[in-house]
Amino acid sequence: MVCEKHTTPGGYTHVFTRNDYEWDVGLHYVGDMDRKGSLLRIVFEHITDKNLKWADMGEVYDRVIIQNREYEYLKGLQNWKTRMKEYFPTEKDARSIDKYVEALFEVNRSAKSYYMKKAMPNFMLFFAAPFMGNAYARIAKRTTKEVLDSISDNDELKAVLSAQFGDYGMPPSKSSFAIHAAVALHYMNGGFYPIGGSEEIFNTIAPSILKNGGNILIGAGVKEILIEDGVAKGVVMSDGKIIKSDIVVSGAGVHITYKNLIPEASKKLIPHLNDALELPASYGHLSLYIGLKHTAEELNLPKANYWIYPNGTDHDKAIEEYLADYTKEFPVVYISFPASKNPKFLEKYPGRSTIEIITVVKYDWFKKWEDTRWKKRGDEYDAFKELFAQRLLEHLFTYEPQLRGKIDLYELSTPITTKHFCNYLNGEIYGLDHHPERFAKEYLKPQTPIKNLFLTGQDIVTVGIGGALMSGVLTASAITKKDITAEIIKIAKQDATNNEQITV
Ligand SMILES: Cc1cc2nc3c(=O)[nH]c(=O)nc-3n(C[C@H](O)[C@H](O)[C@H](O)COP(=O)(O)OP(=O)(O)OC[C@H]3O[C@@H](n4cnc5c(N)ncnc54)[C@H](O)[C@@H]3O)c2cc1C
Repeated sequence: MVCEKHTTPGGYTHVFTRNDYEWDVGLHYVGDMDRKGSLLRIVFEHITDKNLKWADMGEVYDRVIIQNREYEYLKGLQNWKTRMKEYFPTEKDARSIDKYVEALFEVNRSAKSYYMKKAMPNFMLFFAAPFMGNAYARIAKRTTKEVLDSISDNDELKAVLSAQFGDYGMPPSKSSFAIHAAVALHYMNGGFYPIGGSEEIFNTIAPSILKNGGNILIGAGVKEILIEDGVAKGVVMSDGKIIKSDIVVSGAGVHITYKNLIPEASKKLIPHLNDALELPASYGHLSLYIGLKHTAEELNLPKANYWIYPNGTDHDKAIEEYLADYTKEFPVVYISFPASKNPKFLEKYPGRSTIEIITVVKYDWFKKWEDTRWKKRGDEYDAFKELFAQRLLEHLFTYEPQLRGKIDLYELSTPITTKHFCNYLNGEIYGLDHHPERFAKEYLKPQTPIKNLFLTGQDIVTVGIGGALMSGVLTASAITKKDITAEIIKIAKQDATNNEQITV
């Protein structure tokens, strides 16, 4: 039984509509979807019965703009390297770009055992795997900035290499190189978008749940986990009803689970609870949802995302200055064009297109409106939002000037919108932050000290659709005490035709 608080299922993959437009909330691109041996693709095919199809974003998936200098991220490792070397010919002798790629793969090589260890029962960890994952944990202690500084002195190069930091929400001096490497390699074979939009993730997974005897409830908020004698026995719903179950899995996020869902009397059963609650959460974000009464083709909208850095190369300084004063220039502006990425967009919304623009904000800037009602938060809130919306639109018009005067409607979400719909305590964009210490927290795994209570979701692996999906596989492995990854790969290999051999 899946209990979803929101009335639209899918978590951050849900979509919403207004006046004949539809927008994604938390998916703009996913990597590694056309490589045969991609574990992510194999797991997606397994859980969706191959019904989820992906559209390739093409040769350029990310476009980085540092002040007015433009850099393209090209699909395919060799193409990407070649293009980067063309942009930075003076780095040839130092082999900076090769060294950077080698560093990414070093993280990748050690990642598997680190994540597999999370699914192992405690007694096995003690006897069979005391050193498992240590290599990864060692690398994860280094920040992205430390690794980049060890590779090059070229600030422009380092700014370009860390330009996807918005995908994990932390600037180079704060983020672990482990998350940077995971994201960079994830997209190295290009960007992909679910055909039909991000709601197709839920639409294609739901039949697997139902077919296997599961059920899905929406508008079904869990008030508390029912714990008796230190054993999870089910959940108490917001309306007081009790749903009993042998096993409870919380995918609501570590902070929500530990702060709100564990009954007070049982909190003492979790020795790391306070430590977990003190783990920093990611920033809040603004998302500007834009609708246009023209098609993506008519407006010449690109497929590639924009990563705009108006302040130059120092991402850390730009974030710090802006978070101290929101009137300062945005540290990063991300623009996504779902209508041009989704080949079926016009079937649902003929003659239209959509755009999404995202930037960072502090929850505190919006906190005073947190107890107001959605859509009725008052003129002051609306005016405050409008300032941000206009500033974001100007960035769009700078790079896509043909859109000036073409916008039909726009709506800005803030961290209190995110809190309202997705329940994150401070409307955080990506759950827990990805600083180096996070990767040393062994309790961020499926098992909890409470018998029959398990965790899943981005907080126990990493941010991203891929991270959330693989967390589900890990949690299933921990519950069944089977290597579910190996089972899924085995089934995929049996299914594969002879000329489509799979090597993961
Ligand atoms: C703006 C934005 C852009 C993003 N872009 C991308 C991208 O392009 N590519 C990518 O790979 N990733 C992207 N992500 C990240 C990705 O969406 C998330 O990492 C992932 O969806 C998290 O999945 P999850 O299942 O862990 O959590 P969620 O999707 O947040 O699901 C948790 C669910 O728990 C529900 N819940 C919480 N409390 C309760 C309760 N008490 N009772 C019942 N239900 C409850 C919530 O309503 C929510 O539906 C983006 C995220 C955001 C916010």
